[in-house]
Amino acid sequence: MDFDYDLFTIGAGSGGVRASRLTAQFGAKVAIAEESRVGGTCVVRGCVPKKFFVYASHFGDLIDDAKGYGWQTGEKSFHWQTLLQRKDNEIDRLNRLYIKNLEKAGVTIFHNRAVLTGPHSVRLLPEGREITARKILIATGGRPTKAQNVPGHELAITSDEAFHLEQLPEKMLIAGGGYIAVEFACIFAGLGVDVTLVHRGDQVLRGFDQDLRDFTMAALVHRGVSLKMTTTIEQISYKNGQRMALFSNGESESFGQIMSAIGRHPHTYGLGLEAAGVAVDDKQAIIVDKYYRTSQENIFALGDVTNRVNLTPVAIREGVAFAETQFNNNAQTLNYDVIAKAVFTQPALGSVGLTEEQARAAYKSIHIYRSEFRPMRNILGDNPEKMMMKLIVDGETNRVLGCHIGGEEAGEFIQLVAIALTAGLTKAQFDQTIAVHPTAAEELVTMREKLS
Ligand code: NDP
Repeated sequence: MDFDYDLFTIGAGSGGVRASRLTAQFGAKVAIAEESRVGGTCVVRGCVPKKFFVYASHFGDLIDDAKGYGWQTGEKSFHWQTLLQRKDNEIDRLNRLYIKNLEKAGVTIFHNRAVLTGPHSVRLLPEGREITARKILIATGGRPTKAQNVPGHELAITSDEAFHLEQLPEKMLIAGGGYIAVEFACIFAGLGVDVTLVHRGDQVLRGFDQDLRDFTMAALVHRGVSLKMTTTIEQISYKNGQRMALFSNGESESFGQIMSAIGRHPHTYGLGLEAAGVAVDDKQAIIVDKYYRTSQENIFALGDVTNRVNLTPVAIREGVAFAETQFNNNAQTLNYDVIAKAVFTQPALGSVGLTEEQARAAYKSIHIYRSEFRPMRNILGDNPEKMMMKLIVDGETNRVLGCHIGGEEAGEFIQLVAIALTAGLTKAQFDQTIAVHPTAAEELVTMREKLS
């Protein structure tokens, strides 16, 4: 049977774009459909604009710190519209670049929503044109989850809208205790917004090392974020331009904006999965095997729509593995064991490998090394913010099993530590490494005192 394309990809985010470009470079005929903007969540309404916001918010601190170094900076003032405009310009540039690179690789782009109509076919909406493909890749990502059970939930924004607020509110409520909630709480607090974080748990960042969770709670308080823990929003109403939140503890308070950051879910709704025989799990995530094959043998899925490790670099690497396996006769799968994570709070967090809790459960003997100190840069600026570094070591083999860092640039640090952990290095090899002085990172190779 002849097909219009060798590969048809639905979703031009990080995973879909990488898989499509590489497949086309292997000589296959490839098309990709995108209903929103090429670049996907990461580029358009995720990691990239978020990081610009993080920088913007951090400049306020730097201005304060600079005074201790002799700079006379006058009164601080911040212009939100300037940030939005410059951020949008850069997102436009990246969007054009993604399109250009796809076209350069020979990929046909359809700026349409595409839905599956069978194991080898998709329909482009709204026009209804049917296209066939030998293989289909679903890379539609995720969407913010809304608290549908909370009356008035539609009055809350999600991270999608947070990137386009016409003006900064004076007061903001952020619901959730995951990546997005803590990052945006720091961003908006740093931009001068009076932020309250409401979370159903007693601590943020479930699943992270306990010391990092403690570090983050302290950092949020230091940033001036009001914490409402073990509390949920029961109802939201609107009055005089303000959103009134009624909390589970009976209190109520009004805010200029309420942002819901209670997780994301796979974007599979209305995709025609049933028509094509593609199975999903109870969270509507597409079930795939280690080569990203769904229950339908010609259809594949990767990235957040499979709800495994929902991170951009993972989706990109999955895209590479998929293209190599299916179109370059070079079967590849990913090792998900050592994946570094960064949370761009202020200060940031970096984490790779096992948490102390996980290591204690899995290994007979564990050694912990931990260092907490005030980074040199904070000293003259009278900035009390601290840095925390922790290594978790297998007592039997001396191998470093986990590293957790809280502090400025922790996201950069952890990328490098991840190389050492991927290589399976031991604590003795960390210790053999000669320190770079004076840096904060030298602590990683000079921690000698075992805490346990
Ligand atoms: P997360 O899954 O990280 O966190 C969701 C939070 O919402 C948790 O604190 C959870 O609580 C809480 N929650 C879930 N359901 C409810 C509910 N019904 N009512 C109240 N609270 C609820 O999701 P995010 O939205 O923060 O981020 C989504 C994903 O995006 C992340 O998992 C990550 O993969 C990715 N991401 C990565 C970033 C990075 O790499 N820096 C940045 C931003 C996003 P509980 O802990 O009790 O379950």
